[in-house]
Amino acid sequence: NRQLVLAERPKGEPTKDTLNLVAGDIPAAGANQMLLRTEYLSLDPYMRGRMSYALSYADPVKINDVMIGGTVAQVVTSHVDGFASGDWVLSFNGWQDYALSDGAGVAKLDQSGTHPSWALGVLGMPGFTAWAGLTQIGMPKAGETIVVAAATGPVGATVGQIGKLLGCRVVGIAGGAEKCSFAVDELGFDACINHKAEDLAEQLTEATPDGIDVYFENVGGKVLDAVIPLLNPNARVPVCGIVSQYNATKLPDGPDRMNWLMGQILRKKIKMQGFIIYDDFGHLYADFAKEMSGWIESGKVKYHEEIIDGLENAPAAFIGLLNGENFGKRVIRVGPN
Ligand code: NDP
Repeated sequence: NRQLVLAERPKGEPTKDTLNLVAGDIPAAGANQMLLRTEYLSLDPYMRGRMSYALSYADPVKINDVMIGGTVAQVVTSHVDGFASGDWVLSFNGWQDYALSDGAGVAKLDQSGTHPSWALGVLGMPGFTAWAGLTQIGMPKAGETIVVAAATGPVGATVGQIGKLLGCRVVGIAGGAEKCSFAVDELGFDACINHKAEDLAEQLTEATPDGIDVYFENVGGKVLDAVIPLLNPNARVPVCGIVSQYNATKLPDGPDRMNWLMGQILRKKIKMQGFIIYDDFGHLYADFAKEMSGWIESGKVKYHEEIIDGLENAPAAFIGLLNGENFGKRVIRVGPN
């Protein structure tokens, strides 16, 4: 049983020394337990926070503990009611080949599903995050303008496509021309701007002639700087993530603009609200699952996944995810499929 354990807490960007690959025996399922074999491991930006010892909404991973993570797994042996050998499940095995479970927090997946790994993306936590953050906090009305960055990732791509289904103008922001073409040509965004462009603020102004009504905040940093002046009165800002800052070791240099920001929020009556998906909206999961599976089946929402083979490749793939090297939802195929 190979495991990736947290060897040290990274200062800034994680390195090859952050996680250690160790190998041990495959555990045996005891009474009221089942043995799960990890088939797919989800890589998600929030994992960076769990590597640090910082006050957050969830406890950090302890040194020498297996790195946590959402997984799609198959049941190998089961002594848990309701689960049988061969079942596909959504579980929280973490970064390892095998895990024992008593069934708590494990959900059975559609056994005939053609894409079990999608339960880690558009049909799972990231898709739910996009759906709930946009509809419950963003509350867009037809004709309004939505801006979302990390536009080709699982959250951003879903936010943009739901925005189009609701009749909005959707402007994406992504890291590079290829990602931007994908957002417009494949996902149906009205426009997409490369955040690496020198004139990001000018391009965003041009792409949002009626201002911005909903800014779905995924990244912070210079994208947020470009967005704030363009927000309309009564704009809504679901604060979902600030991935540009996850590896930061200090606040950015430059003048303190906190009071300028507060002035903008006050004068434009901007509603800015952070959320932690299952804490705040867990009760809506069934509504999401029904609506999103309908949209996927009918082709109204598209999903792009990037599968990387091999548990041993997870650390480098995770470092790359935080830098925008991923194109779509990054998943590690751990199992032999
Ligand atoms: P992605 O797969 O989109 O990966 C992160 C992306 O962020 C990168 O691909 C990159 O895209 C972009 N990025 C990285 N650095 C920068 C930068 N300096 N400036 C601008 N963009 C940058 O991630 P997810 O879709 O899984 O998650 C999106 C956000 O949602 C994250 O902030 C995450 O933490 C948050 N989240 C929050 C949840 C909650 O409960 N609040 C739950 C789930 C996710 P590009 O190359 O296009 O710039």
